[in-house]
Amino acid sequence: MSKIANVSPAEVHSNTLGNVRTGLSADAIAEALINNLHCLQAKLPQHATRNDWYMALAYTIRDRMMERYMATVASIAETSTAAKVVAYLSAEFLTGPHLGNSLINLGIWQNVEEALSRVGQDLPLLLEQEEEPGLGNGGLGRLAACYMDSLATLNVPAIGYGIRYEFGIFDQLIRDGWQVEVTDKWLRFGNPWEIVRSEITFDVKLGGRTESYQDEEGRYRMRWLPERMVKGVAYDTPVPGYRVPTTNLLRLWKAEATESFDFEAFNVGDYYGAVNEKVASETISKVLYPNDEPEAGKQLRLAQQYFFVSCSLQDMLRLLQMRGETLDEFHLYWATQLNDTHPSIAVAELMRLLVDEHTMEWDRAWTITQQTCGYTNHTLLAEALERWPLPLFAKLLPRHLEIIYEINRRFLDDLRRRYPGDDQLLGRLSLIDEAGDKHVRMAHLASVGSHAINGVAALHTNLLKQTVLRDFYRVTPEKFLNVTNGVTPRRWVALSNPKLSALITRHIGDRWIANLEDELQHLEPLAIDVDFQRDWQTIKADNKRALADLIKERTGILVDPHSLFDIQVKRIHEYKRQHLNALYLITLYNKLRRNCSAAGTSRTVIFGGKAAPGYRMAKLIIKLINAIALTINLDPVVSQRLKVVFLPDFNVKSSHRVYPAADLSEQISTAGKEASGTGNMKFAMNGALTIGTLDGANVEIRDAVGHENFFLFGLTAEEVEQRRAEGYTPHSLYVSNPELRETIDLIASGFFSSGDRELFRPLVDSLLTRDDYMLLADYQSYVDCQQRASDAYANRNDWARMSILNTARVGRFSSDRSIREYCRDIWKIRLAASDER
Ligand SMILES: *Cc1c(COP(=O)(O)O)cnc(C)c1O
Repeated sequence: MSKIANVSPAEVHSNTLGNVRTGLSADAIAEALINNLHCLQAKLPQHATRNDWYMALAYTIRDRMMERYMATVASIAETSTAAKVVAYLSAEFLTGPHLGNSLINLGIWQNVEEALSRVGQDLPLLLEQEEEPGLGNGGLGRLAACYMDSLATLNVPAIGYGIRYEFGIFDQLIRDGWQVEVTDKWLRFGNPWEIVRSEITFDVKLGGRTESYQDEEGRYRMRWLPERMVKGVAYDTPVPGYRVPTTNLLRLWKAEATESFDFEAFNVGDYYGAVNEKVASETISKVLYPNDEPEAGKQLRLAQQYFFVSCSLQDMLRLLQMRGETLDEFHLYWATQLNDTHPSIAVAELMRLLVDEHTMEWDRAWTITQQTCGYTNHTLLAEALERWPLPLFAKLLPRHLEIIYEINRRFLDDLRRRYPGDDQLLGRLSLIDEAGDKHVRMAHLASVGSHAINGVAALHTNLLKQTVLRDFYRVTPEKFLNVTNGVTPRRWVALSNPKLSALITRHIGDRWIANLEDELQHLEPLAIDVDFQRDWQTIKADNKRALADLIKERTGILVDPHSLFDIQVKRIHEYKRQHLNALYLITLYNKLRRNCSAAGTSRTVIFGGKAAPGYRMAKLIIKLINAIALTINLDPVVSQRLKVVFLPDFNVKSSHRVYPAADLSEQISTAGKEASGTGNMKFAMNGALTIGTLDGANVEIRDAVGHENFFLFGLTAEEVEQRRAEGYTPHSLYVSNPELRETIDLIASGFFSSGDRELFRPLVDSLLTRDDYMLLADYQSYVDCQQRASDAYANRNDWARMSILNTARVGRFSSDRSIREYCRDIWKIRLAASDER
């Protein structure tokens, strides 16, 4: 018989259900595959397509999670367990494909491989078949997914609440060097991982007006007379922990038309009108908004936020009542985490539900709201802080605006007592921005309504206290704390880098997968072991070949796996400075054109990432990178030493091939702009060295891996501020640095745009006149640092040593560590003894 992962009591019990649904042996899985192919896909093996086999396999695996998922749901709704439950509210969950991760976490990878080979199928091909749910933009949504994995792995009962977007983040094509967006039809072939909970639905009111009335007991109350109503339907996706009994759930809401709202009354005889209402209702969960777009007029986005928050809180109240607890206990039972301000309307909605719908006293409701909510801030960029124009807000959520005014009145009254005469302070802290067109400040609502406010890296939290939330820090310093982000080693090492995982396990055992902080450091002595270095290098070379194959397939470009793989993958944004990397490429190109000796380090510079559809400068940066790539890759001499690739459609699935193949990780944002970054952690875990600024978690990564194993350049956040204050003039840097001037002139001359001097003018002008992100200030430091990296790479054994040390020392960037800290410092959840460190 084959090896079986930890078997829970539930599993033992489930044997009575029959082996076909639950058995974990290769035999049982093979039988289930044929069975599902027959019953669910209605196909005989000889007629089945690859997608049929994928679906049959997905259902086979989902079956094997049902027992544990149901047990967790039951425990959440039962009195017997005293455990607090985490409600992780997030507008985005970028889970990535489910199949491979489920096999890792259930511990049945080998059995499934064997079962598939018995029916003549190949696991890698079926893994490739899965279409990923792109229900997030990038880092923030991916963080939520890592946290769900860690919560389950640490046996913390949790529900991830969000939106089941019908269209996730767009697919990116590159045409003539430009980004083209294509709608993401991820549900086209069905989604085998979700379970529709048609019985779990909630009505959500929208628009209309409010009125006062006296209730039966003579109390003065408010009620909301909405203009329309939509229904949220729950779709659950099980989230299995790594080889533990806990299987949590993602509960995503789909918007549908309500039955209870009487269409007939409004549309007598108007059948098409009624259908239009239905269509209008369903648009709420239709599409994920790309970030970095102007917020103006996006009423639908506010509706989305309110929709999922309202459904989630109503569900939480329902589960509390099922458990037989009173509403007074809400905060003892639920730890509600707000992932950025997108769900911050929860503060007003919970107040409305408790006060208006459940007749609770305001003060009691307010204590409960503050005690349950925690707010995670993800950005210092002023333009990314959510603010809703007052008229738009009032039109959609009239009752919430009244509640926010009342919260604000009490908040400001309290401040007036504590800081008499300081009207400026009150104005700065107010939930309403009174300057110009009035706005509701969502970060202020979240901050006032939460007992804890956290940044996502040490530097970020410090800057929060000094900048965007400075006044909140002054009046409630006790609320502030840091929880540095982390990433799950299950997906980001075990799944995406199987060869490295096997090597690590061979030397230090497999406990690192669930215990990265304690175990990975045991690799450290091996950093100077020449045999281990050789194995390490062989695996990196294999991973680079696999990425080279993907590059060939997607772009037609041939790259040399022996060259230094220098990679920058992340959303395209000016603050992330892909264009600084581009300036370096042109500089290197100029240098190699003058003197291209065969000796020296060869590089393959790889970019990947999507630009928001409305962000023109980001799209121009993509065009510039592709234009540079075209010139360099076609140059018969320079291309011997340098290749440039823009890998289209960077997403979780393709990222599995990217992070493990990197020698050098580009983390080059303007200091003070990147809150944390998590790509930086994934690269380092997979043995890439970082070239980076002192920004976000780079600071902590550098301290962890050792300063001598990190390529540091650029101004510090403090220096950036100082330069700005002194009056920064990028043009003078351009004038005084001949290499820089030559680089920028080459772009401006039309060299990369067939003589067109206009194409890149907006980019050149922005650099020479404002340079908001200080590329020119960091340019020389970056070029020099790249040279140091090239020189270091010439000594491959020494590079391997540094690479091993990077992996060995980044155990603390596991999301398990982050979740332990959230449990201890914010949610006040005690972990089971075996999950304590
Ligand atoms: C990790 C990840 C990100 C975040 O990358 P950063 O470098 O931290 O910006 C974005 N997109 C995907 C697909 C990721 O996996």
